This record gives sequence, structure tokens and C-alpha cells, in this order.
Amino acid sequence: MASLPSTPARTPVRTCIGCRERAAKRELLRVVIGTGSDGRPAAVPDPGGTAAGRGAHLHPTTACYDLAVRRRAFSRALRAGEGLAGTPVGDYLASHVPDQPTD
Ligand SMILES: [Zn+2]
Repeated sequence: MASLPSTPARTPVRTCIGCRERAAKRELLRVVIGTGSDGRPAAVPDPGGTAAGRGAHLHPTTACYDLAVRRRAFSRALRAGEGLAGTPVGDYLASHVPDQPTD
């Protein structure tokens, strides 16, 4: 598969669990297993990419989040049980729209 001209060869690439397209790792939001507001295991955002353990990657958009939820991609990508909630990620994206400059 030919690489995109705009993507340098050494750029780490990950697949978005929502739309399943490959993108530079820095353009994706990392998610890991954490604890939701209800105290149950949930997919939580790891914007710094520093959390230990298995991570999954997602475009930081509500569109890709919705796709991931519909496909139950959080459970699959994080090797978690069925029904792993992605609510903290959705909340993060709702309050953190990357397309609009914050300053
Ligand atoms: Zn995506």
C-alpha cells in the first residue's frame, strides 16, 4: 500500500476504531480502560498518551466516537468485556472540540 505523500515514513500510524481509517498517531485521541463516573470500567480519554496498558485510538470527533460506540469498538479494541462504556470519551469530546481554536 502506497503511503500518503503528506505522511513522513517514520510517523507512527494508528487505525481509528471509529471510521477504521489510518491516521498519524498524533492526530488521534488515545483511549484506555479507566473508571467512569458511575465507578464501573469505562473507556476514558488519554490525551497525553501516557497511561499504562492497552490503548486504542480514535479521531477526536463525535462522528468517530459515535461509530465506535455503534460498533462496540471500545470493548473490542481494549479487550474489555462486552458493554464497556465510552461515555467519558464522549463527554471529553463534547467539551473539547479540536476544530475550534481555544485561544
Ligand atoms: Zn475516525
